Amino acid sequence: SHGHTVYQPGMVDRRSADAALADDLAHALDHDELYVLFQPIVDTATGRTLGAEALLRWEHPTRGPIGPDKFIPVAERTGVIIPVGLWVLEQALAQVGTLGADRYISVNLSPRQLREPTIVHDVLAALNRTGVPATRLVLEVTESALVDDDSGIAALHQLRSHGVRIAVDDFGTGYSSLQYLTRLPVDILKIDRSFVATMDGTPSGAAVATAIIYLANVLNMRTIAEGIETTEQAEELRALGCETGQGYLYAKPLTPDALLSRLSASLG
Ligand code: C2E
Ligand code: CA
Ligand code: CA
Ligand code: CA
Repeated sequence: SHGHTVYQPGMVDRRSADAALADDLAHALDHDELYVLFQPIVDTATGRTLGAEALLRWEHPTRGPIGPDKFIPVAERTGVIIPVGLWVLEQALAQVGTLGADRYISVNLSPRQLREPTIVHDVLAALNRTGVPATRLVLEVTESALVDDDSGIAALHQLRSHGVRIAVDDFGTGYSSLQYLTRLPVDILKIDRSFVATMDGTPSGAAVATAIIYLANVLNMRTIAEGIETTEQAEELRALGCETGQGYLYAKPLTPDALLSRLSASLG
């Protein structure tokens, strides 16, 4: 590197591509290009909605929709995830009134957000501003966010002492040892979609899900299965002791209006 970039067609400098996307993303927040969808989390035995997960969407003015799998990692590397993540939290808390009853809202918290020294204050301030009880918020963190981040773990302990519940997202896909789980302030393990997808009625197809459900029971945690697409998967999960899940079988991520109609219909 000689202090300048030589552009060659077909060759993309990741840092400048990231920077362009990150600039657009910072702009997106100010120009209403971001919105949040809500995927119901259901009791698979009754179909009743127990809560909803907030999932961020970006409609780029020229590039069209950009998926979170593409822009969240960029936002994470550049730090734009901090204002964007807090905005998602506010949007999600604003939906709690729509949810009614005792339903909860689940919000993804990125590793970068967890490392922010002000994260506990920011979450509690958002709860205060919106008047939402802490017990109706679930924060989803990934395993990798928890490894080697003692201050992040301390932040989760504090949030949990206020009543916020903590879920480990994509559980089982990280590279951490299981031992760490016994030390963590965790209420829920989310069984990753990849382990639900292998469920085919055979013991080996259900091996990882079986192990996660067993572990959760021993550690007094709940489980939520992700990416349930077939009734067979739902039934097999129930037989194993996991009765809470989300997936296209029940509902895709919905706009607030669509969520409201679903909740007011008998689908509940
Ligand atoms: P995730 O947290 O694991 O979210 C679940 C993803 O699975 C969502 O993808 C959801 O739309 C998708 N999904 C749900 N049910 C099914 C199903 O039955 N089949 C299949 N094939 N997929 C299903 P989405 O919305 O594209 O989000 C992708 C990832 O982006 C999320 O994975 C999460 O890691 C990240 N993300 C989304 N919104 C936010 C956010 O506000 N903050 C942060 N930090 N990350 C976010
Ligand atoms: Ca999640
Ligand atoms: Ca997940
Ligand atoms: Ca995922």
